[in-house]
Amino acid sequence: MNATPPITQDVLTLPRKLPEGGKRNIIGLTRPQLLAALVEMGTPERQAKMRLGQIWQWLYHWGVRDFENMTNLGKDYRAQLAAHFEIALPEVVNRQISADGTRKYLVRIAGGHEVETVYIPETGRGTLCVSSQVGCTLTCSFCHTGTQRLVRNLTAGEIVGQLMLARDDLGEWPEQGAPREHTRLVSNLVLMGMGEPLYNFEAVRDAMHVVMDNEGLTLSRRRITLSTSGVVPEISRTAEEIGCLLAVSFHATTDEVRDTLVPINKRWNIKTLLDTLREYPRLSNSERITFEYVMLNGVNDSDADARRLVKLIQGIPAKINLIPFNEWPGSAYQRSTPERIAAFAEIVFNAGYSSPVRKPRGEDIMAACGQLKSATERQRKSRAQIAAETGT
Ligand code: SAH
Ligand code: SF4
Repeated sequence: MNATPPITQDVLTLPRKLPEGGKRNIIGLTRPQLLAALVEMGTPERQAKMRLGQIWQWLYHWGVRDFENMTNLGKDYRAQLAAHFEIALPEVVNRQISADGTRKYLVRIAGGHEVETVYIPETGRGTLCVSSQVGCTLTCSFCHTGTQRLVRNLTAGEIVGQLMLARDDLGEWPEQGAPREHTRLVSNLVLMGMGEPLYNFEAVRDAMHVVMDNEGLTLSRRRITLSTSGVVPEISRTAEEIGCLLAVSFHATTDEVRDTLVPINKRWNIKTLLDTLREYPRLSNSERITFEYVMLNGVNDSDADARRLVKLIQGIPAKINLIPFNEWPGSAYQRSTPERIAAFAEIVFNAGYSSPVRKPRGEDIMAACGQLKSATERQRKSRAQIAAETGT
């Protein structure tokens, strides 16, 4: 393994220290973090838990954006909160709506960086595809995001904020006094936008804890799918510390091909990845792993590939999601023909696996899988540069 080139992995975080006079963003703090912050602010310890519950509901159940409107809190306490915290979401700078109803938001985060968030409506449900990084350190050869260098990791607040701003746009916050249960427009969340979520583990984990909380946004862990290119050391942590469903960008059945498509394979090859995946369902107490497989004409789409694929994953409770390649300007691949995809799907299906073909959504607005790329382009920063900028 030492002979293979390391995957460059810059670990970027926002400044831990607040700017002079700056307020802390309350969005994205987990319950324990917010509790500690309330106590630090001077909330008597015996009251802090109750205050936390009240504030949490205002923020994440009702979608309130002003401490002033948290009417079951005393006036002085509201003022104290407002002096210490802000309720800040990333800003939507552009929204495009596809002919098929898919919505793509261009979202600006602190520092002027931009990421994309996609809402995909389906009958009786809807999926929000959120980003975890600006760009990506990895360079999968078929992925548009992979041509954009990593600028920085998103904070937990910026990840949760993407769900909140989509609910704003869809008008999905409950009316006060309305019954708690209502039809959900955003019923599912997938970490399949820009970036490799497992290279931003802590922020993704904290954000998912906020999103899964029963008193707030209440998306259950079975309605959240995290997609990884195969960051092996963080996979068991995902099972233990998040417990959501897992999707893996598999895409090839030999190391030779996977090395070129998903270069992280040079570090953790197919065998190593599969050994780790075998443990996931038990560790996370979840059913099936989704194997994502992008269909690239003449590259990974032969009958022999399909047969190898089912043999490789034997014994792993799995579903295989075939993704017709989505083109982007300058991409070097072509989508497999519908006949080839159907033949591949049949082999997989006959081996006993569910093999849905993912229908491209929002292609006309470049919102389909792997088409996301924001305009923010930066050179990859060195660790030293980041440290100098953030004072960490
Ligand atoms: N970084 C993570 C999650 C984001 S990508 C990962 O790689 O898993 C979500 C899915 O879209 C991945 O399976 C990715 O491989 C796939 N994808 C990337 N580019 C694509 C393209 N141009 N067409 C179709 N799927 C693509
Ligand atoms: Fe990054 Fe995923 Fe794209 Fe690969 S497929 S470059 S890991 S976003």
